[in-house]
Amino acid sequence: MRFDTSASKPRRDASMICRATLSSASYFCRSTPPSIAVRLPLGGLTHLHTDHAGGVHHFPDNEILVSRAELDYAAGLRGRFRGYPNKRWPAWFRPTLVDLPAVPFGPFPASMTLTEAGDVTLVPVPGHSPGQLAVVVEDVDQAVLLAGDSSYSQDALLRWSSTASAPTRPPRLTHQRIRAYTAQTPTVYLPAPDPETAARLVERRTIEAAREMAIA
Ligand SMILES: [Zn+2]
Repeated sequence: MRFDTSASKPRRDASMICRATLSSASYFCRSTPPSIAVRLPLGGLTHLHTDHAGGVHHFPDNEILVSRAELDYAAGLRGRFRGYPNKRWPAWFRPTLVDLPAVPFGPFPASMTLTEAGDVTLVPVPGHSPGQLAVVVEDVDQAVLLAGDSSYSQDALLRWSSTASAPTRPPRLTHQRIRAYTAQTPTVYLPAPDPETAARLVERRTIEAAREMAIA
C-alpha cells in the first residue's frame, strides 16, 4: 500500500521528489510524477494539503484512509478559507474516515494497525494540520516513520522547530512523542519536506545516528 499522492503535477525541482519504498508500504510526496504514482494502490493520506493529496484523482478505485479530524477541518467553505482547495477533489472522493482507537503505540496515545502482520501502523501527529496521521512501518530491526509534514526536516524536529499551520493543537506534543518513540526504537524519520528524506531511507540512517553525528 502507499501513502500520499504528491501534487497533481510534478514540479521541475527533481530534488524534491520523494519516493520511499519499503516491504510493506510506500510513500509518495511532493513531486513524484503521476506515472510512478499510479502503480500502487493508495492506502491513505497523511493529511489533505495539496502537495500530499493533489494526485488523489489518479486513484478512483482505492479505499483511501483519511482521519476524520482532517477531513472535518479541510472540507467545505471553511476548508477552502483554510487553504485546502477542496473543489479540486474528485466527485467520487469519499475517503474512509479514521478515528484512531485509544490503543497506545509507544508514546502515541492512539493507533491503528493496517496489516495482518502488524507491521504498518497509523499514529496521530496533529500540529501541522489538525488530523495529520503518520505511518510507522516496522521493517526488520528498524522502524520507518512516514511523518507527513510533522517537521520541515529531521534537524528541525531535533531543534523543536515547528511547521504548525493550525492553532488547534501545538505541534510540540507531537514532536515530544516522535522524539520519545525514536529514543525507544531505531527509527528512520521521513518528513516529506526534508530534502534528505530519500537519501536517509536508502541509507537506512536512523535519527539516533544523526544525533551521534551531531555530537561527534
Ligand atoms: Zn502539509
